[in-house]
Amino acid sequence: MTAKTNHNTIIVNKFGGSSVADAECFQRVAEIIEGQSAHRVGVVLSAAKGVTDALLELVVLAETGAAEVPAKLQALRERHIGLASSLLPSAARANPYIQTLDAEIADIAGILQTVKLIRSAPRHIRDLVAGFGELWSSRLLAAFLTERDRLKRPVQWIDAREVLVVEWEPLGPVVQWEASQAALGSLVSAAGHDVIVIPGFIAKTSAGIQTTLGRNGSDFSGSIFGALLDATEIVIWTDVNGVLSADPRRVRDAKVIDSLSYNEAMELAYFGAKVIHPQTMAPAVSREIPIHIKNTFSPEHPGTVICARPQSSHPVKGITTVDQVALLNLEGAGMIGVPGTAQRLFGALREAGISVILISQGSSEHSICCAVPDVDGLAAGTVVRAAFERELREGQIQRVDVSRDCAILAVVGDGMAGSHGVAAKLFSTLGDAAINVRAIAQGASERNISVVIEARHAQKALQSVHAAFYLSPHTLSVGLIGPGLVGGALLDQIVTQLARLSSHAGLDLRVRAVMGSRSMWLSDEAITAVDWREAFKAKATPTDLKAFATHVQAEHLPHAVIIDCSASAEVAKHYAEWLAAGIHVVTPNKKANSGPLDYYESLKLARRQGGTHYLYEATVGAGLPVIQTLRDLRETGDDVRSIEGIFSGTLAYLFNVYDGSEPFSTIVRAAKQKGYTEPDPRDDLSGTDVARKLIILGREIGLRLELADVEVESLVPAELAAVSVEEFLKRLPEFDHRIAERFDTAKANGQVLRYVGRLDSATGRASVGLVSLDRRHAFGNIALTDNVVRFETRRYCDNPLIVQGPGAGPEVTAGGVFGDLLRLSAYLGVSL
Ligand code: ADP
Ligand code: ASP
Ligand code: MG
Repeated sequence: MTAKTNHNTIIVNKFGGSSVADAECFQRVAEIIEGQSAHRVGVVLSAAKGVTDALLELVVLAETGAAEVPAKLQALRERHIGLASSLLPSAARANPYIQTLDAEIADIAGILQTVKLIRSAPRHIRDLVAGFGELWSSRLLAAFLTERDRLKRPVQWIDAREVLVVEWEPLGPVVQWEASQAALGSLVSAAGHDVIVIPGFIAKTSAGIQTTLGRNGSDFSGSIFGALLDATEIVIWTDVNGVLSADPRRVRDAKVIDSLSYNEAMELAYFGAKVIHPQTMAPAVSREIPIHIKNTFSPEHPGTVICARPQSSHPVKGITTVDQVALLNLEGAGMIGVPGTAQRLFGALREAGISVILISQGSSEHSICCAVPDVDGLAAGTVVRAAFERELREGQIQRVDVSRDCAILAVVGDGMAGSHGVAAKLFSTLGDAAINVRAIAQGASERNISVVIEARHAQKALQSVHAAFYLSPHTLSVGLIGPGLVGGALLDQIVTQLARLSSHAGLDLRVRAVMGSRSMWLSDEAITAVDWREAFKAKATPTDLKAFATHVQAEHLPHAVIIDCSASAEVAKHYAEWLAAGIHVVTPNKKANSGPLDYYESLKLARRQGGTHYLYEATVGAGLPVIQTLRDLRETGDDVRSIEGIFSGTLAYLFNVYDGSEPFSTIVRAAKQKGYTEPDPRDDLSGTDVARKLIILGREIGLRLELADVEVESLVPAELAAVSVEEFLKRLPEFDHRIAERFDTAKANGQVLRYVGRLDSATGRASVGLVSLDRRHAFGNIALTDNVVRFETRRYCDNPLIVQGPGAGPEVTAGGVFGDLLRLSAYLGVSL
């Protein structure tokens, strides 16, 4: 291995605290380093996860004189001893790692005791204590690498405190390059060790006092050592696959950005993308060293490369938020054309040590506003009022306002400069999400557009802006109620079409919620496979309609739709509230449209209020285009005079089969066995279902019908209306003669019996019942469970328009619902 190493190239790797959280992590890190055997390798290490926090907490506790300090320090020692015993073969007392650790723990105990006595810790003490985590983790890694058989390369541990010299200035630590380079040169020779392990985060000042590079400073150490060692490449290893388009803890759909310019990365880091420290870039930029961000837990992922000339076509790279800011607004007509106001404002803030995050001034100069950290908000107001005391008194400045609890949302990307509409998209998205923008700033570089919003809107803003720039604008969050025969068939149909719809039309259908009558399944992982039933069974929780709707209307997804495949009137009662809240509704459930007229009409209002669509093609004639045909007729100016049809597949079947040779009751029983009827065949025979469909059509053409207005001829003998299903079926033969008589009369006249619904638009009369029709009538020659609807209109008068075909069955009904879902997508802008 050693023979192959190219001594002219060196890769500097930085591993963050999450990459060295436990012994297993150390193993991974070792494997990654061993995989780089073709080059010399520099390894800059953070403290094990949480150790810096714990050390700093010890100092704070000591300042308050807390009794648990020794125990907490001991816990840190134990954690490192534990790591060492898992990783090093002889984890005995004699082990130099543990000896050094113990000596340092004793030092820290002494320091903390002093802090406890004087009840205060100056900065040097805090820096000193905070830096031990990196010493412990890096020494352990160096020892581990040396011990490992696989690594036959000489390993050198160097103490960053001996090398890295920085001076702290108001903007942060400034590297003393010459001193640092000289110190490194005396420890590491060009042809020296193959693997150099260095603690991150820590450094010393020119005066030799130990210091740090600030929280998260190991990234900075990584790039400083990259520069000092003249690295060809810097790799920052962390626990995510690269720099993401937004903080993954806040935006679930965040995407890995493949490449970024140094400036973009700097801007993102500054605006809160914690994955990289803002100062990291500087040393690499001047030397044009590419920085890779990669995942220790998934090293095969290409990650993000940050370099001078990135290859990426996306104008917007990342979206970040800075929380907890206050907005200070200075307003007054007296400022117009008066030079120096801004200088006095920012001078006053500077004097008070308050940093300004964002500045915005309208061209009228009537007001200047700026964002400061929320903790400094009140102080900022006080110092600025004091600075302009005279102007405020004399009325040249009307007011100095401070609004606390704000947040900044920043959209970052080099490409925004040359592409139109980024700002428009940002503002229209915020507008659609009903988020008020308090202030706006766009740098002349056009690399960053920042807006100040109320903090309570930050999450929603981040998610919706991210969706607008990163997701297909046609992403639909879908919730399905009633995964039974029709609902189940629908989900089966949807999953088979997902890939095609996404690649051909950019339609991203995400079924994220399924609710049955007793249990429901809510998830962020959308259903993509036909085995969704397993997931539903395994992960279901008790039904909760409110939680279901909230989950479906996910803030991070552009659109939401609930598909109600239940037959429940209870569920239908919620449509108005969903539609008004911005959730589209698609359904084959007849209950809402055939329920009370008031409710039906309130749905229209709700739709207008929520800007939503309500589609229900499959409520009549299953998948047949009945509602859509009717709409087209009306909307193109035709006059619908009457609608007539066979609207029940079950009744169609019964009268198609009934020819007098067998009693009607026998046919009903056989149909029930074949599954052609409802579990209680009276639900079909009563004609109510047909009456409901007639009402839906009637209302569609503007008739104000209630269920009670429909004249219904029930085929359920009154005597059997209240008995059990079994008794009903048993006693039905007693009434066979009634149908038989009507059949015989019809037959004698060359007619057939059909169960027909009729609607007359002029009189508003709606009736449902058994009628005798000429054998040659369009309704006389239909097959099995066919439905047929005949529209007589002004245009289609001599020869009415007929829609006919199978009008029942899960597959065709589901197809009708799916059709509505795609129609909805088209309304939302998808071109199918
Ligand atoms: P390390 O321990 O490796 O230094 P950090 O916790 O400092 O890791 O930074 C990595 C974390 O930064 C990620 O786990 C992620 O949660 C968070 N993060 C915030 N914003 C972003 C972003 N835009 N891209 C990637 N990660 C981000
Ligand atoms: N350990 C230090 C911190 O937690 C430095 C780092 O991990 O980057 O701030
Ligand atoms: Mg970090």
